[in-house]
Amino acid sequence: MAVSPTSARAAERLLTVDDALDRILSRIRPLAPREVPLLDAVGRTLARDVVADRDVPPFRNSAMDGYAVRGADVATAPARLRVVGAVAAGGVPDRAVGPGEAMRIMTGAPMPDGADTVVRVEDTDDRRDMVTVTAPTPAGTSVRQAGEDLLRGTTVLAAGTTIRPAEVGLLASLGIPKPLVVARPRVAVLSTGDEVVDVAADVGPGQIRDSNRYSLAAAVWACGCGPWLRPIVRDTADDLRRALREALDADAVVTSGGVSVGDHDWVKPVVSELGTIDLWSIAIRPGRPLAFGELRAEPSAGGRGGEAPLKGPRSIPIWGLPGNPVSALLTFELFVRPALLKMSGRAKLHRPRAQARLIDPIDKPPHLRFFARGIHDAAAGTVTSTGPQGSGILRSMSLANCLIDLPVGAKRVNAGETVTVILTELPEDH
Ligand code: AMP
Ligand code: MG
Repeated sequence: MAVSPTSARAAERLLTVDDALDRILSRIRPLAPREVPLLDAVGRTLARDVVADRDVPPFRNSAMDGYAVRGADVATAPARLRVVGAVAAGGVPDRAVGPGEAMRIMTGAPMPDGADTVVRVEDTDDRRDMVTVTAPTPAGTSVRQAGEDLLRGTTVLAAGTTIRPAEVGLLASLGIPKPLVVARPRVAVLSTGDEVVDVAADVGPGQIRDSNRYSLAAAVWACGCGPWLRPIVRDTADDLRRALREALDADAVVTSGGVSVGDHDWVKPVVSELGTIDLWSIAIRPGRPLAFGELRAEPSAGGRGGEAPLKGPRSIPIWGLPGNPVSALLTFELFVRPALLKMSGRAKLHRPRAQARLIDPIDKPPHLRFFARGIHDAAAGTVTSTGPQGSGILRSMSLANCLIDLPVGAKRVNAGETVTVILTELPEDH
């Protein structure tokens, strides 16, 4: 595809999407581990292997309500057995089961010695003194062996595992009320702009409502981190400086707006005072200007929330995202989300991708990678763009369940061509 001399020159000054992400990820480390209450661990990453210090279940027990017997006695039916007692869940059998004998047993109750099989109650006449087994039952039926779920001494969950409901259950059954996990990143979210007013405010002439602070905070939350909404920042160096100083308790800072080279774009100069920052022109649409850097934070006296004091100065990553609502969310998806997952200790940082057949043609600037918002139909293997794709048209994202990732070089992608889609709507795949 022909590339005009102007766009070719422009392309030389641009950073590729992949290079920008590599530079960001190379600066990001997982947060320190800490012990948290079991339910606070949901969505967090285990910081060390969990080894079973006991068998789960801890003893042989019945999987059914019925009769504990010797398998040899019930290989054929009918079989008449003498009922020698009963044991319920939480109880302990008061004797063993001998040949020709049965003990009533409830689900979860320990198996009496001598018995190796449970006949479910439905396969008996359920009488008090002499019970008749009406269906032949193979030896070993309906008995749960000690350690059949978790065997003592084995690694049950490896470091790096994300804790979901099943893992919470395993940790509880191992008696671990406070697992050691990578801390949840707390992310300060700031909006900049003299025209920007809060969602609840009346909108005056020339003003717009602040959508970015809320959409970005929701995006922070959706990747398992804690959003920390900060007040709207005016387009002055002083206001931004004060706002960033107040945000230094966070583990990461995300701002939107003010990263162009307009008269009121203060992110780069002010962050340079408080740390370091690069302002990149990325070969991407939407979202070309992006600032990334680090704020320096001095140790705070007591740490936050009663934790141990911080040991020394630390660096807090900061992203200056563009102000246009689509650009802000899209650059969050591409450049912030993977980094927050890395801070969270996750091994898998990227969304799944798929190939799909494009239904409608898409025009794009040849020297930029273009992320169109799309509707992916997995069953049909097709994808359609969500209509007008301007960087202020947030509906293009609201209608979408994927991003259509169109490479540098292509100018027009025709209907029927195979394209790559990024599946932004699937549940997390650990
Ligand atoms: P900027 O990057 O500050 O030049 O802003 C680019 C465009 O995005 C302008 O049209 C802004 O009005 C708009 N914008 C900036 N911040 C926000 C925000 N928080 N919510 C909605 N739109 C915004
Ligand atoms: Mg602005």
